[in-house]
Amino acid sequence: MASASLSRASSRLRHWLRSSCATARITGPTFVRRRRFSAVDNDSDASTSKLASTRVSVFCACWPPGPLERDVRRRISLSGIASPRLTRIDSGRMAAILLDIDGVLHVSGEPVPGGAEAVRALRDDGHRLRFVTNNTTRARERLADDLRALGIELDTGELTTTPAAAAALLAGARVLALTMDAVRGDLAEQVELVDRDAEVVLLGGADETEETGRVFGYENLNRAFAELEAGARLVCLHKNRWWQTSRGPLLDAGAFVAGLEYAAGVGAEVVGKPTRAYFDVALADLGASAEEAVMVGDDIEADVGGAKAAGLRAVLVRTGKFREDSLVGAEPRPDAVVDSIADVPALLREAG
Ligand SMILES: [Mg+2]
Repeated sequence: MASASLSRASSRLRHWLRSSCATARITGPTFVRRRRFSAVDNDSDASTSKLASTRVSVFCACWPPGPLERDVRRRISLSGIASPRLTRIDSGRMAAILLDIDGVLHVSGEPVPGGAEAVRALRDDGHRLRFVTNNTTRARERLADDLRALGIELDTGELTTTPAAAAALLAGARVLALTMDAVRGDLAEQVELVDRDAEVVLLGGADETEETGRVFGYENLNRAFAELEAGARLVCLHKNRWWQTSRGPLLDAGAFVAGLEYAAGVGAEVVGKPTRAYFDVALADLGASAEEAVMVGDDIEADVGGAKAAGLRAVLVRTGKFREDSLVGAEPRPDAVVDSIADVPALLREAG
């Protein structure tokens, strides 16, 4: 991007952040984890796109047609928007939009075409934005820098991370944290990190480094088990079973969470998407109600399912983790399905 263009964009962003739409900030740095998806996934997405469009169109054909639907249907052949259903956004206030990052704005570090332009268009249309992620091992500032390097304009305070949500939800508690070191500093701003006599055992996510082996080693898991046996709550940043990497699928921390649940006979409370607590924290950061909010994501369970359960509307994008067969029998269903984030501004204009 040319420097002049970046300067104008930065100015526009600063203006927006000073406006009444500027969001509440999470104080202090937080850390996030970055998932990476293989090139094979991208190819798979591309190869199934047409089939997915056909199936969604058939699914949507049973909905009662209306002005909005007819308008959007006309645009299907022009813009690739294949799902004509999005409830009208209440007038008076523009939408509050939660944007998933991995798989929506980038895939394996490669920007989704039109993503930066879409973010800019959403701001220009007056929408309030919040960038949401389940990542648990990278600094929020660094993640923001990565997004800026992709041309996406954002303030670091616009990011809601899972560790930040956990710190807010567990404020003041004595916590035994089995997390990456990078997360501990942020947790310590709102909770008391302890080695024993904990009120909460908190498990973070895994990453591809050797640190994962140390964090989730036998001694630590056994210490966590002892605390659970003594009555501590079990909380985890997420409960994912595995994630896709350039080396293939890797075991994620959900396996260790499930192991502790099994051993101690307890159930874990999950902080990250798709839990309602996560969406509540993100909406509070944005100063928005669920009724005026729209979640945009690539995961029909974590993004769409979680958002719908929390009372938000949800738009599913056909990038990243999206698989066409995930729509078959999906419940709840997304309010709209689009080819990518690039289609979202036009979709919201139609709905507004
Ligand atoms: Mg995603």
